[in-house]
Amino acid sequence: MLANITSGAVLGIEAYRVDVEVDLGRGMMTFSVVGLPAGAVCESRTRVKSALDNCGYGFPQRRVTVNLAPGHIRKQGTAFDLPIALGILAADGKIPPDALEDTLVVGELSLDGRVRAVRGVLPLAAHAARLGARRILVPADNGGEAAVVEGLDVRAVDHLVEAVEALAEGQSLPVASPPPDEPPELDCPLDMTDVRGQGQARRALEIAAAGGHNLLFIGPPGAGKTMLARRLPTIVPPMNFAERLDCSTIASISGLLRPDAPLVCHRPFRAPHHSVSDAALIGGGPQARPGEVSLAHHGVLFLDELPEFRRNALESLRQPLEDGEVVVARAQATLCYPARFMLVASMNPCPCGYHGHPRQACECHPIAVRTYRNRISGPLLDRFDLHVGVDPVDPAALHFAPPGEASSVIRDRVLQARARQRTRLEDTGLACNAHMRSREIAAHCALDDTSRRLLMTAMERLALSARAHDRILKVARTIADLADSPRITTGHIAEAIQYRQLDRAEP
Ligand SMILES: [Zn+2]
Repeated sequence: MLANITSGAVLGIEAYRVDVEVDLGRGMMTFSVVGLPAGAVCESRTRVKSALDNCGYGFPQRRVTVNLAPGHIRKQGTAFDLPIALGILAADGKIPPDALEDTLVVGELSLDGRVRAVRGVLPLAAHAARLGARRILVPADNGGEAAVVEGLDVRAVDHLVEAVEALAEGQSLPVASPPPDEPPELDCPLDMTDVRGQGQARRALEIAAAGGHNLLFIGPPGAGKTMLARRLPTIVPPMNFAERLDCSTIASISGLLRPDAPLVCHRPFRAPHHSVSDAALIGGGPQARPGEVSLAHHGVLFLDELPEFRRNALESLRQPLEDGEVVVARAQATLCYPARFMLVASMNPCPCGYHGHPRQACECHPIAVRTYRNRISGPLLDRFDLHVGVDPVDPAALHFAPPGEASSVIRDRVLQARARQRTRLEDTGLACNAHMRSREIAAHCALDDTSRRLLMTAMERLALSARAHDRILKVARTIADLADSPRITTGHIAEAIQYRQLDRAEP
């Protein structure tokens, strides 16, 4: 009386196969689950028993042993409910033993037998396809994300009875349909046309979007720093399918995919509050979930009021900013999550916010101003490519200022600049100028003598690091791309240097 159902689990973003073996033996009625079950898996016994009883199948009056193999990997989550229930019914002769051949099964059961959505179905479906499974059986609310995977027969059910009746009578299970190929237009009520004035900040935002550069806005409260940052998603280039799949996988294991939108269509824009914990920002914690830096993968991580974030949390951003991924150490395994994002942040120039303001007096002691700015370490500050002062807006001027250029116009220029980068970086697999490594910088950021002298002088005068040097070259490359210039000119490098000057100003 043995049955074997194929299921799967996700650890980090890696999926692996789990075999659910069910044995009905002689003896008193018992129900045990072995194979390193943890947390919710231990509780699945209660859910499975109730669901079988409430659906009228009854629980076998036998010794029921469920083995989750391989035994050395810790099993978490609720996805084994459905395969365990179907395994018991198969072992009990209520569904044909071969009805679920070549099929990977996942799903949580409610006590009345409804099949509930689980996390991580997209990476599981992709893994099932790689394993050569013919079919995957998933909860109805996960059907869309599983159907994104090509070459896999995706079946989705929303009740245990529905699955059992179809399997018992040899009928086909409901087919899940994939989401439409073309992503919908970004539905965003914001537009760059709402931003009046702010010429330099608008320009910096365009450069950042065009080259994928990190950007820091510094200015008094109410100057429009947040307003500008929140409009970044309206001018960034769209994601390609591989990028959408990456983002969807992270959203899937985080439980953030909606049944009606199973594929992430637009670049993420994450704006965690400054009280965010290290684990929530970087990833980890007891469940080893991806953090905000991974949820922002291929998109934007916006940190409003940067000095208010805890210093530890900010310092932990340095590794993902450098490597494009985050490593979370756990007792059992080391997990690696992708985390290549654009970092955009805003800060006041001083605690009261009015340092350098033309009409309001700053009440801060110079030492308080210095302490405030020192909350952001030099190495982190170094990783912002563009440091931009956002000036307070003169209310009178605002009234007469014409509306700003529309997002669609800016986005066209950004797209053209990205297309030039894509052609240039085609063989490297890199998406944009910000991702260039030393090799690509040497190949694509050659300077003439005048430009080189200008950069050397700036390095000395502003005491810039080698990292800042490379970042200036990358920004200059993007400025040249926006101007459709094959070479970086002295004007381009001068503008790139100008975005490095702000934080050196003494309080
Ligand atoms: Zn102040």
